[in-house]
Formats: sequence, C-alpha cells, structure tokens
Amino acid sequence: MQKGVLTLSFDDGYLDTYKYAIPHLDSLGIKSTFSVPVNLIGKACEKRPVLKWRDLKNLKKNGHEIASHSLYHTRKLSIDEITQSKLILENDLNTEISSFVYPYLNMIPNKEIDNAVKKNYSSSRISKNFPVFNKLVLESPFRIQGFCIMKKHSISYLSHQIDKAIKNNLWLIEVFHLVGKKNTKSAHRNKPYRFFMHIDDFKKHIAFVLSKNIKILTQKEVVLRYVN
Ligand SMILES: [Zn+2]
Repeated sequence: MQKGVLTLSFDDGYLDTYKYAIPHLDSLGIKSTFSVPVNLIGKACEKRPVLKWRDLKNLKKNGHEIASHSLYHTRKLSIDEITQSKLILENDLNTEISSFVYPYLNMIPNKEIDNAVKKNYSSSRISKNFPVFNKLVLESPFRIQGFCIMKKHSISYLSHQIDKAIKNNLWLIEVFHLVGKKNTKSAHRNKPYRFFMHIDDFKKHIAFVLSKNIKILTQKEVVLRYVN
C-alpha cells in the first residue's frame, strides 16, 4: 500500500537556504527540487541574495533537481521567461530541466503561457499559502499545487499535514523560501518576511518527516512515477 509522497521544494534560490538547509539534507541523503529565477542568479530576488552558478552546479552534482522559476520573477510572465530560462539552465548545467515553477502565490497563468509551459516542460507547479495536496495518481502533471510554508505555520501544524498525506495517500509539496538563522524584512512592506523558517525548526521538521518514513521524491521523480 502507498503511504503518501513528500516533495521538499525551495523557491527563489536564496543563498541562505543553500547555505543552511541544503547541507542538512545532503548529510541525510535527501534530494529536493530547487527552483531559481535564472537571470537573478548571483544577484538578488526580492532584495535577498541569490546563490551563484557554482552553487547551482554543486546542487546538481549532489542530486537535487533544478527547476526553472522564470527569468526575472515577475508577475507578468513572457514566453521568453518560459523558454529562455530552460535553455540557459540546460546549457550551463548540462542537464535536462523538466519542471517549471510559477512565481508568486495564486498565480493564474494565461493560456498562452500555460501552453508554452506544456510545450517545454514535463510538469509545472503553482503555489498556495495553505496546505494543499495532490492526488496519487496524478491526472495531469501541470499546475500541480505546492504549500508555501510561512512563519506562522508551527512545526506541529506541519507535522499534522505530513500525517494527513500519509493517511490519505496524497502528494504533499512543501515549499520553503528563506531557511536560515536570521530573517529579513519583507521586500514590499515594513514587516518581517513571511516565508522564513529558522534552520533549527527546519531540522526538527525533517527529523519528524524521517520518523514517519514517508517517501521523499523530487517533483520530476513524482511526475515520472505517478502520472496517469
Ligand atoms: Zn518565487
């Protein structure tokens, strides 16, 4: 019997996340899906530093999936953001990029963008800021839903979602943004960033996940195994 699947996703390519969360996963042999806005590599996304190309190469070498998160992380995506981001990543990393992650919560892509994504990728993901689950088996690998974890979500709340995925045999995609030791300000308002998780909490959460024995797969792996 199946017992649910978990994907650990990291959006926006933040340097702190790469420095703190990834080494922890690497020490445990866990693979994630790491999505980057390609033209912001080595620069900043929403005023927070983004990792460098050499870091991305290292991620790939350690078996993590690299996904496209557009070129510039804008709300208005162009076709180039879909096609060029894939080409650049593929050329520089010498690997096939098959997953696309739409920027921003509740993004509703228009038909033209959606079609371009379908033509160029094997799957796409959108984001919600509350727990969402995907069916196993998947009816379509496009616009699958991820749960963006926020500061306000406690570790026990997250544990509860893991239990739910196991109990109902569902696919939960946990989406992290900034994981580290220190939060930053929001890029848009005079408040702390809402999508921050302290590395100590992250480690506690991963320990809980491992204690439950839920299968951990990348977005690409789930799509390969579970599409109808
Ligand atoms: Zn993003």
